[in-house]
Amino acid sequence: MALRSKAYPDNVPGAFFVDTSCIDCGTCYTMAPDVFLDAGDHSSVHHQPSEIQRMRASMALLACPTGSIGSEDKASMAEALGAFPDPIEDEVHFCGFTAENSFGAWSYFIRREAGNVIMDSPRAAQPLMKRIAEQGGVKMMVLSHQDDVADHAAFRERFECERIMHSGDRYPGLERYIEGDDPVQLDPDLLFIPTPGHTAGSACLLYRETFLFTGDHLWWNPKREMLSASKNFNWQSWPQQLKSLEKLLDFEFRWVLPGHGASKRTDTPEEMRKELERGLEYLKKL
Ligand code: SF4
Repeated sequence: MALRSKAYPDNVPGAFFVDTSCIDCGTCYTMAPDVFLDAGDHSSVHHQPSEIQRMRASMALLACPTGSIGSEDKASMAEALGAFPDPIEDEVHFCGFTAENSFGAWSYFIRREAGNVIMDSPRAAQPLMKRIAEQGGVKMMVLSHQDDVADHAAFRERFECERIMHSGDRYPGLERYIEGDDPVQLDPDLLFIPTPGHTAGSACLLYRETFLFTGDHLWWNPKREMLSASKNFNWQSWPQQLKSLEKLLDFEFRWVLPGHGASKRTDTPEEMRKELERGLEYLKKL
């Protein structure tokens, strides 16, 4: 729970604040940029929310992995508790309730007639579990790599979902492991794409040739305004990660939905391909 006595001095005065336990995961300023900003090695409140912005700020407070956001204004809190999974487009939702042991990585909920899917694990917060149960539970949990697994065991226990990961990370105890470098069709609308490089077992999930869930492999960098990846936060091989990024040019999608960093939407797959080519050109020079 955030403490007013430990609030950063760069928060503007008012009900909402960020305290010194912030790990700078980026969730709050990605979710509610009108209220929170990236203040260097932490986030802070740059503008107290208006009536309209208060709901989004309250949702960011709940999504924060470390409970580093506090507020004396609880007016939207009950509504915010029931607002996750938060719709992105069509059947795809953001789970909110990020976990500290996944460094605040984002996870996603796909509501499908053929069975709901979660991409990477959120925190097993009761309000989220309850809402997911109301929406039909979870058939499958796909894990992009070993770092974004959070509370996967609690979801398995509650929903008996099949947990799927690439074998390259040697992460134990799951129901299914994908081997090799070839894409694997998990269902007609779900393609598991091995993309080693960030870790040996890193993978993306493509849904309906529209939504690409990328874990820590690829994201949108709003400061550079381009698709990006991190050479510094690379745990297997940067050349291998570049090769895996190039491999994504073979697929059609118009959303990039990452674990960390911002998401990116384009109107057409062609525009996204151009963005990926532009990002790759930059990344290859690093
Ligand atoms: S969501 Fe929490 S940990 Fe992440 S940047 Fe905001 S205050 Fe910090």
